[in-house]
Amino acid sequence: MPPLDHFPWINGKFLGIAWSVWKVVGWLGNAVFFSRFFVQWYATEKRKQVMVPALFWWLSIAGSLLLLAYAIFYKHDSVFIFAYAFTWIPYIRNLVIHHRHEKAQRPCAECGLLSAPTASYCSQCGVKLSGSAIAPEHISRTS
Ligand SMILES: [Zn+2]
Repeated sequence: MPPLDHFPWINGKFLGIAWSVWKVVGWLGNAVFFSRFFVQWYATEKRKQVMVPALFWWLSIAGSLLLLAYAIFYKHDSVFIFAYAFTWIPYIRNLVIHHRHEKAQRPCAECGLLSAPTASYCSQCGVKLSGSAIAPEHISRTS
């Protein structure tokens, strides 16, 4: 019997790829890393301003760690390993800052809407928020 030769089978292999556990890890890493593009795009379109939700950074960490594992244990390629060896550092830092910003949000006594830590007035009902707004440079110290 000749090898399967109809898409998605190419030369008898699914998508023409010689599959192994590490190929699955690598392609899963690609898929997870690429999926963050849709998460960020959806969040931006929803708010009509550039948004980077926490899920974007979680997908960044997961995708880059899968690709790092693929590079270390399967490819043994120093260029590929270096490309993903340190990317998790800004991803973790961005998650920490994101978390601190979320925690520092200011609730409106009138309508309950959460406003940015730097806001002085509620954007929904216009009521002056109690206490004083936090300057952006102080948000990172409010943990
Ligand atoms: Zn309000």
